[in-house]
Parts: sequence; structure tokens; C-alpha cells
Amino acid sequence: AKLRSKSNEMGEIRPILASLKPSSTAIPEVPAWTPTSWQSKPITQDVVYDDYKKVETALEKLESLPPLVHPQEICNLRQKLKQVANGEAFILQGGDCAELFDYCNQERIEAKMKVLLQMSLVLLYGTNLPIVRIGRIAGQYAKPRSKLTEMVNGVETHSFRGDNINGFELDQRVPDPERLVSAYFHSAATLNFIRSSLANGFADLHKPFDWSLSHVQDDVIKERYQAIVSKITESLKFMGTIGADKSAGLKSVDFFTSHEALMLEYEQSLTRELKDPETGEKHWYNTSGHFIWIGDRTRQLDGAHVEFFRGVQNPIGIKVGPSMKAQELADLLDIVDPHKETGRVTLITRYGKSRIEGLLPGHIQAVKKAGHKVVWISDPCHGNTQTASNGYKTRHVDDVVGEIMSALKIHEQEGSNLGGIHLELTGEEVTECIGGSSDRNEDDLILRYDTVCDPRLSLTQSLDVAFLIADWFQK
Ligand code: PEP
Ligand code: MN
Repeated sequence: AKLRSKSNEMGEIRPILASLKPSSTAIPEVPAWTPTSWQSKPITQDVVYDDYKKVETALEKLESLPPLVHPQEICNLRQKLKQVANGEAFILQGGDCAELFDYCNQERIEAKMKVLLQMSLVLLYGTNLPIVRIGRIAGQYAKPRSKLTEMVNGVETHSFRGDNINGFELDQRVPDPERLVSAYFHSAATLNFIRSSLANGFADLHKPFDWSLSHVQDDVIKERYQAIVSKITESLKFMGTIGADKSAGLKSVDFFTSHEALMLEYEQSLTRELKDPETGEKHWYNTSGHFIWIGDRTRQLDGAHVEFFRGVQNPIGIKVGPSMKAQELADLLDIVDPHKETGRVTLITRYGKSRIEGLLPGHIQAVKKAGHKVVWISDPCHGNTQTASNGYKTRHVDDVVGEIMSALKIHEQEGSNLGGIHLELTGEEVTECIGGSSDRNEDDLILRYDTVCDPRLSLTQSLDVAFLIADWFQK
């Protein structure tokens, strides 16, 4: 990886990687895309390092390491997202706001897989649709921040920007390029554990009672969950009797990984030109995860992130917040989805409960008019963050559920369909959000407030949300 110099939008001189050869699949009229073409565009949320020799060494190492995910898996997800866009499947995407390297241990990964599997069982039962499970996991290590510095204990210091940039501890706040390589290995270890668990019966539908609910704090939720499990167990028994339960699909499930592809140096180093397993054609795959999304702060039409995203074969997400103009959304889709491919783009809307009604209908109409067939999912967390009277950043379950219910209704009214939800959650009984069947209030926040970034739904609150969505589909 050769380095050359350029100045970023703040006028600072920083080295960047030299461009690789242009892609053979470049679209005519549009400037050629390469894994490094983003470097000539303005970058928001850029990281400035002290020592670019170390950045170069880290990126060279990353470029030499094998892909984390396989093109076949990326193709499989593309197929599934096509189904979602057509209303034939439903997405459950969720996980931490900021995944720490420390979360790479058996207990935490199992807890997150369990909550997602339990929720997907409830959603499967409620929606009667196959559920596409996508974790915010195995790479959700970079965070956009509204301020690059913050005051901690009277000292102005770098904000925490995610474990692949700097550490949460105060003595770790200077951006460290070696964390980029560390991110790869934590991602690999997390992915390995997920894969081996699933390959060895973790999600076997014949034993969903093993996905213990012992930590769930609400008896009604427990009973409703057990009732679904009993019905499934009965059906499986019957299928066993008639010999129809030999399907591999009952023994395991697909599980995909995702993260915000914010740190483009990292993403670029794992973007490889590989054969499409079905057509044999070569494409650029971002092998750092199956699904990547652009955050609401980095989606500028002429910016570096949009440039990077337009060239990768992975299905991509775009966060759509209240500042998105309808025409801007159509223009953005023309850039990243020039072939108007069903399910290529997932729009992750995050307006806030009080703003969704004024914004979503116009966005749905603009996308339809522009001729793009996207997947629409609702992120009911990021527009509903508030500060509690005791200073904690929190969210109320009623607002979260309120935004989802509005999204379901609006899509129905507009002749569109809500294809899923995107949540910040954890499999543990944290006290970061308020409300829900466990009836958490502001005074409870202090009990177990573990997040280093945004507040996450607890296990019980996550199941609350799943049941309320299931109920809407059953109405
Ligand atoms: C996030 O998903 O954690 C996030 C920062 O979201 P957004 O880009 O929608 O603000
Ligand atoms: Mn967040």
C-alpha cells in the first residue's frame, strides 16, 4: 500500500493510499470506481493519526489477511433482501450501538444471539414470514460523533470513536492505528464463534427451550414465549411422526453480520475483487461483513462514504433521518443503485416518533417515483433518544414502539411495506432504556447502565417490541 499526500477538508495534509487499477465493471459516464476512489472526495468524521507510517503498516497487514465473509454468503443475503423488498420476508437487525473488543467473549455473544433468535421466533410466528437475522455484530467498532472532543473530569479530550479508532478509557483516547488490525481479529473471533455455534445446534428449532428465558423479568412475556415454543414443538413432533422434519432448515438458521462502514481505510483494505459464485463474474466485495450501512452523518451525495458504497457488491443500508430531503434521497439512490436492482439498498429510517408522519410518506413517494425498489426498515431508536432528568441518555420503549407502529401504518397507507426493524439491543437485563413490561423508570437507569454509547433495549424490552410487532401482523 503506497502512500501519497493530500489535504482533507480541514486543510490538513495527510497521506492516503495510492489508487488500485480501475474496476472492469465501471459504469460508463460515471467516473471509474476503485476501492480507493473515495479518497479524492471530502470525508466527514475523518480520523487524523499522529503517525501515518503505522497506518500504512496496519493497512498492509489487513490487505494480506483473508476475507472475513464469503461472496456466496453476500449473494445469499442479496437474494433474501430481494424477497424482503417484495414483502416475502422480514428483517430483524440488531445489536450494540458500539461493540467493544471486550464484548468478544462467549457469554456476551451467546446472549446477543439468543435475544435475536428468540425475537425472530416471535416475529416468525406473528408475521408468518421468513425472518432474515442480521446482527450489529462482529465489526460494529466505529462510531460517528457529533463532537470530536469532549470534556471528561474537567479535561478536554478526544471523544470515544469506537474501539477500532481509540479506547473508551481516558488514557486510550489518542487514535491508534494498531486498533485497525485488532478490529479484524476481534471480528474474526466473534464470527468464528457465531458460525461454530450455529453449525452445532445453537439454533436448532427442536430445542428452543434451551434459549433460556431465566433472565426475562416479566411473567406475561415468558408465558407468551413458552406458548409459541409449545406450538412449534407440537408441530415438529407431528412433522417427525410423518417423517417431514428432515429439513436442514429446522436445525439451524442463517445469521448475517453488519456494521456501519465508517472507517473507510479499514473497509477498503478488506474489499477484494472476487468471483460471483453463481455467474463467475468478478466483482468487488467488502469482506468485512455481509451488510454495511452509511450513517446519517456521512451520507453526503458528493462525499467519500457514498463513493465507497456505490462500488461494492454487498447489499447496503442508508440511514435516513429528518434532515433528508425527498429529492436528495432519490439522487442518492441514483448514485448507489444505478441499475435499480430490487433490494440492493435498504433504507433505514430513523425520524423519531413525533416526526415520522410528516416525513416518511414523502420519502416513500419520492423513491417510488424515482423507480428504485428498496427495502424499508425502521430504526426506532436513533430519533427517540432523550436525556433523563438525572443526566442519563435514554429512550422510552413507548416511543420506540410508537415509531414502529407509525411506520407499519404509513407503509400500508402508501401501498408500500415495512420490511423489518433495526434496533439497538443487548441480550442482558441492562437498565438503559425506560418503560416496557419490566416498567423501568428514570431512577432505575443507575442500576445497570453499561453502554459506552447509545442506550440499548434490554432482553425483556426487546421481547416486548417483538410481541407488539407480532400482534400488529395478527390484527
Ligand atoms: C447508529 O446506528 O449507532 C448511529 C450512529 O445511527 P445514525 O447514523 O442513524 O445516527
Ligand atoms: Mn447508536
